[in-house]
Amino acid sequence: MRFVNAGGRASLLVDGQVFDLEEASGGAIPRWPTETLVAHWDEVLALSQRGAVQGGVPVNQVHLGPPVPMPRAVYAIGVNYRGHAREVGADVGPIPSVFAKFSSSITGPHDDVILPAGEGTTDWEAELAFVVGAGGRNIAHRDALQSLRGVMVAQDISERFVQMAAGHQFSLGKSFDTFCPCGPALVTLDELEHPEDLHITCRVNGELMQDARTKEMIVDVAHLVELLSSVMTLSTGDICLTGTPAGVGFTRRPPRYLRPGDVIETEIGGVGALRNRCVAEGEAGAAAGGGKQGAGRL
Ligand code: ZN
Repeated sequence: MRFVNAGGRASLLVDGQVFDLEEASGGAIPRWPTETLVAHWDEVLALSQRGAVQGGVPVNQVHLGPPVPMPRAVYAIGVNYRGHAREVGADVGPIPSVFAKFSSSITGPHDDVILPAGEGTTDWEAELAFVVGAGGRNIAHRDALQSLRGVMVAQDISERFVQMAAGHQFSLGKSFDTFCPCGPALVTLDELEHPEDLHITCRVNGELMQDARTKEMIVDVAHLVELLSSVMTLSTGDICLTGTPAGVGFTRRPPRYLRPGDVIETEIGGVGALRNRCVAEGEAGAAAGGGKQGAGRL
């Protein structure tokens, strides 16, 4: 099942058509994506399995927002692919690096990424994100995958100067507004033939920058659920970005950073693709009417 946020309304994506869940359920499922995700998921699954939805709209005629627009928490994992560990010169220890992206950084799968004024050192990081289902504490490894709502494509956009300042402050450098595009759909794991081995790529202006398999993760999704829930209570709809493969911009010689007009395409086989245009901070206000929702309707 592919759950989408179509113009702010909880919807299903089936064969390129978007179906409004409130309409399809005769009002039993609310229009709000977050409320639906948290409190009406079983009804959505049941409706999806019945397959009796009608009145779809082609997906390219709607503005897709982030499937989980207001998560309580967005966790992210640093250095979770060996190739990336090598390129940044990081040691791989027994516990992975975990940081937060503030949830205000979330934006839609086709929305503009606003490049902050300043050092001009904003970089890309393609990542698989998982979305917490029932949540709780001490989720066992064997129960971890079944406990999830599903997965999405995400970008962990990173302003490297701010990230590395003050002795490394990942959460600030990775939390500018629009620095967490995700979607296009929240995909349940039964849609994926090999959910543990997905092809992940990032292109900038069509040039292939990152190209890896998610099975190359140092700590896999189930172990990340187990680890995070051993420390804190996970809540339904919490998001975790699982780390990026080799090929980011700042370790290149010379370094390569995002510039206004650049187009970032982030794709995970079977899950979907993000396409985000970069705009300068001042330009974004005019283009988006001051809000991230209106930007970048591709
Ligand atoms: Zn990252």
